[in-house]
Amino acid sequence: MLRCLIKDFETRPSVTHLLEHPFIKQAHGKDSTLRQQLSSLIKEQQEHGCRRRTRHERINTRKTLIIESSPDDDLVNLEALDEETIISHLQRRYGDLQIYTYVGDILIALNPFQSLSIYTQQFSKLYHGVKRSENPPHIFATADAAYQSMVTFSKDQCIIISGESGAGKTESAHLIVQHLTFLGKANNRTLREKILQVNPLLEAFGNACTAINDNSSRFGKYLEMRFTPTGAVMGAKISEYLLEKSRVIKQAAGEKNFHIFYYIYAGLYHQEKLVKYGLPDKTPPRYIDSQNGKVMQDIVSSKLYKEQFDAIQDCFRIIGFTEEEVNSVYRILSAILNTGNIEFTSITSQHQTDKSEVPNTQALDNSADLLSIGSEELQEALTSHCVVTRGETIIRNNTVDKAIDVRDAMSKALYGRLFSWIVNRINALLQPDTNICAADSGMNVGILDIFGFENFKKNSFEQLCINIANEQIQFYFNQHIFALEQMEYQSEGVDASLVEYEDNRPILDMFLQKPMGLLSLLDEESRFPQATDQTLVDKFEDNLRCKYFWRPKRVELTFGIQHYAGKVLYNVHGFLEKNRDTLPADIVVVLRTSENKLLQQLFSSPLTKIGGTRTLNLTLKHPNRTLNLTLKHPNSPNVDTMEMMRHPEETTNMRRQTVSSYFRYSLMDLLSKMVVGQPHFVRCIKPNDDRQALRFCKERVVLQLRYTGILETVNIRRLGYSHRILFEEFVSRYYYLAFRAHQMPESSKENSKVILEKAKLENWSVGKTKVFLKYYHVEQLNLMLREVM
Ligand code: ADP
Ligand code: MG
Repeated sequence: MLRCLIKDFETRPSVTHLLEHPFIKQAHGKDSTLRQQLSSLIKEQQEHGCRRRTRHERINTRKTLIIESSPDDDLVNLEALDEETIISHLQRRYGDLQIYTYVGDILIALNPFQSLSIYTQQFSKLYHGVKRSENPPHIFATADAAYQSMVTFSKDQCIIISGESGAGKTESAHLIVQHLTFLGKANNRTLREKILQVNPLLEAFGNACTAINDNSSRFGKYLEMRFTPTGAVMGAKISEYLLEKSRVIKQAAGEKNFHIFYYIYAGLYHQEKLVKYGLPDKTPPRYIDSQNGKVMQDIVSSKLYKEQFDAIQDCFRIIGFTEEEVNSVYRILSAILNTGNIEFTSITSQHQTDKSEVPNTQALDNSADLLSIGSEELQEALTSHCVVTRGETIIRNNTVDKAIDVRDAMSKALYGRLFSWIVNRINALLQPDTNICAADSGMNVGILDIFGFENFKKNSFEQLCINIANEQIQFYFNQHIFALEQMEYQSEGVDASLVEYEDNRPILDMFLQKPMGLLSLLDEESRFPQATDQTLVDKFEDNLRCKYFWRPKRVELTFGIQHYAGKVLYNVHGFLEKNRDTLPADIVVVLRTSENKLLQQLFSSPLTKIGGTRTLNLTLKHPNRTLNLTLKHPNSPNVDTMEMMRHPEETTNMRRQTVSSYFRYSLMDLLSKMVVGQPHFVRCIKPNDDRQALRFCKERVVLQLRYTGILETVNIRRLGYSHRILFEEFVSRYYYLAFRAHQMPESSKENSKVILEKAKLENWSVGKTKVFLKYYHVEQLNLMLREVM
């Protein structure tokens, strides 16, 4: 609830303007009484305004209006800390549309599922370089805290946003970027505009409608904003992680392909340019028509896709893509759609068994034309492949099934590379001037928005990777919130009641360990040409002997994992293929002959190689402590090969680079980026599964609070010593409580103890260099200080 103190009321000529205060204007529920209170005060002021008051009268009516954070805003301040109290508290706040709540320094954000008017510029102004306690909790406050900390200490910051799919991570990331661009007023307006276009553009290519979220991120994103030493925005850099390429060729029931395909189809349809891009105008291409004609209906009747298409064109233009580049992007996207429409039939003759051919070459010709390659060469690469044995090249035919696989592999590769190219191009266009701010200047704020934890009816390889990434983020959170704080107690020799928390390290180990972790086993099996889904799941069962893995009886090709966020059943069907992600060399060779400049770039990267042994030393920094972690990844690639590995699907005779080994590397890369900065955590919570505004489903929220360790976090913020003050500072601040003003005692451990005992505080502790205080002690001490002074 908003707390409103009215003081100094009379001295102001008018307080009418306060009714315009952003928080008063949008106050809901209990807070709306503030508005009424204020209105009656204004009336009172108007009535008494002309008469000069006596001094006595004036003192009695001294009132100020301060909108500030109330103790209610932080779960740590609750009297009882049981689950029920916390949940009711959050529920009440949610009912008043107070979607943000603190747990000490962590921000909890409940998805409102409706647009709120609390993100305007007026609000940006409120959250600008002020103490956190001066305003109610807000996502802007987190951005401001990171920004202020960066400017003050010239230290990189990192904002980690986590939560289930649909909990509000991507929206939060947007809002943070919006506020950071406001705070770091870019000298040139265009840069600000460019940065604000990055998210919408990436979302068009990397987001899709899923069963859970209409705008679900199908890739992970780490956006670093760079600032000058004085704190002006200078540029931005994006790192993308693990785009779900399989969505290009197939979507689960009720789901859709990446947004951009619908935008472009609708955009071209309305511009009557479908023919120019070889796209059919009666039935949409197969890759986007998984919904039996519904897409066509949407495109013809709704303006939405068309508007989005226009918006994306603006994004491209504002960020600085050339017209030629944008046109090439459209050509490649249309080529992918045409490729999906290529059909094969089998021809069997005496000499050639199981050969496939393309009976109707319309889609093939269109695709080849759009890619600026020869149609016959493309057909050849789809329906046959070269094998080199003993120096001789032999051409083998592809069966229909094989040809379909090659076709889809080509589409995935085209899209994946196009996406990476767009990201790289944005990075080049938003690159800061390195003369003004070097990459290691400590003037960066990184924002992590990855795909949230997923548990569908049917979970595949993609869900496994997404969920492992979430395990890793949870591990990082635990390190910071629990492990490091408890290490400080130990190093200071303080006996603090250790807060128990669910350490998910064993689960991570089960996935990532070598050689017997799940991903290694998957890689090993992927190298056997004879391996099948059955042999894979058997291999898992034989080797993963821990309580986090099980094989359900009577459900074939399935295994279960006990994730930190709950149990998930995975179906191994297609795991091996998805992990191998092979793109036949024949296709690469043909695509390299393209006359299209962009396409040449996409396929010009050198072939994949595997690096040597690598050990990643990570240092987790905390304001007061440093934790060194050594993560050994024998056989994982070294940095030099990283660029080459961006396209793991492209292989010839070299040892294969699989998706899972690339994924493992990406995780390490992400972690190494995160650990250099001071972290700020935003925990997004989904109040219900129906995306309904104001519906607070207790069971769902409790579950999320439990598995993210929020309950334990409240505990450690409360049971732990939230204030840890050096003796020197403590004595100079509070010596009045135990000594005479002129005494000026020495700043020692003993004198600190004298003060604490004299103040009759309980439950404090002293370490080797610091006094350890509970969150409520500081307020008590300050009160006493006020009384004696
Ligand atoms: P996630 O990235 O965690 O999967 P999103 O950020 O895409 O989730 O949020 C899902 C949907 O929830 C959004 O499309 C939006 O409708 C709604 N939403 C999330 N956060 C907010 C917010 N702060 N204000 C209004 N709506 C929101
Ligand atoms: Mg998202």
